[in-house]
Amino acid sequence: MFSKDTKEAISLMMDVYNDRHSDAIILLTKYYFEVDEVIESTLSSFDEEKLTLTVRTESENILKDIKFKTEPLNSNEAAAYLLECLDQARKKAPKNVPKTRIELEIERNKNLKTYFTSVSGTKKISSNIVEISFKNGLDDLPDIKNDAFLFFIIPKFKKDKFPEGFSMSNYRAMVGKEDQKFFGAYYTIKKFKENEIYVWFVLHEHPGPLADWASNVQVGDTVAVWGPRTSFQPPKNTTNYLFIADETAQPAILASIKNLSHREKYICIFETQDTHSQYQYDLGNGHIEWIYRDSDKPGGGKKLMNRINELDIDIKDLYIFGAGEGKQMSNIRKLLKKKYPLRSNQMTLTGYWRKTK
Ligand SMILES: Cc1cc2nc3c(=O)[nH]c(=O)nc-3n(C[C@H](O)[C@H](O)[C@H](O)COP(=O)(O)OP(=O)(O)OC[C@H]3O[C@@H](n4cnc5c(N)ncnc54)[C@H](O)[C@@H]3O)c2cc1C
Repeated sequence: MFSKDTKEAISLMMDVYNDRHSDAIILLTKYYFEVDEVIESTLSSFDEEKLTLTVRTESENILKDIKFKTEPLNSNEAAAYLLECLDQARKKAPKNVPKTRIELEIERNKNLKTYFTSVSGTKKISSNIVEISFKNGLDDLPDIKNDAFLFFIIPKFKKDKFPEGFSMSNYRAMVGKEDQKFFGAYYTIKKFKENEIYVWFVLHEHPGPLADWASNVQVGDTVAVWGPRTSFQPPKNTTNYLFIADETAQPAILASIKNLSHREKYICIFETQDTHSQYQYDLGNGHIEWIYRDSDKPGGGKKLMNRINELDIDIKDLYIFGAGEGKQMSNIRKLLKKKYPLRSNQMTLTGYWRKTK
């Protein structure tokens, strides 16, 4: 039986696939389920045995099931079944059918490397953000700019060293095992220098391994990082930006703004706890509007959503980019899609973390 938490995670995963990977869902419907003339296909429901797609064709609506061999333990395992069907669909598809966004992403990820570096300093940015710098071991790390993010892996105990030849695939193989010795999460490169990076870690209630590590970090502590990747992809003619973020995605936005030319207009709607977690930031022509959660918990409350709802947005040549708690971002995505005729490439709003308590 799925727990409430697993149900929420699978539901969010389906939202993401419907929103960002509709090309993959269509490919799978056409060549795995062999449905012709698909007008629309979406992941519509799930239970312990299957994910169900609702497929709209010229003549009817059909339901198609992706059956699980065993009940998935989490959303990643449920997504793995979907990707397996996509793989089989690709084998059956004619050679000239273009690769979908997720297939291209998977291909790119195969070439990413794991680097080992160590903490060179820390600085307090606000009541809940600490900047940690990492130096050495990063000579080959490419500067891909914008929201470049890395998967950070830390040892459970400081005494544990990374085994010789350790890489992201070793990490993946140990996740969820009882004797898991290393833990990881994604973080953004706020500032890139030669052989050195600066990262803003959010410190939060109920810290997981990474936030806990960041609050006790010491110069010399070693981490492994895998990447870098990016998801900031504005259409070519973009002249206006709307950035939406809680603390976790503010580094991604501030790093991306650095690469905009002075001709572009932008506004940042930044959610934070209160005036203590707000920081001074000189953004030249653009500006930051701060939304305080005050008594609401991170990922909770409606203040950010209500503010977005109040905005009168001109969508011409606009790109909306941002991230925060998964459910919060999913609701904002749905609101914006309902209110404005946005093209799918005009919005990248991502769940960077998921509220579980
Ligand atoms: C592409 C990408 C880039 C990211 N960049 C950054 C970044 O630059 N800086 C940054 O701080 N985070 C960033 N994140 C988010 C970060 O990966 C998550 O917050 C992650 O869950 C932290 O891991 P953890 O081990 O501390 O907590 P977990 O073990 O994942 O979670 C433990 C508990 O903490 C809660 N929790 C997790 N994150 C938060 C939070 N931010 N506020 C309140 N409660 C929380 C969870 O709900 C859970 O109850 C990024 C995520 C992605 C996908």
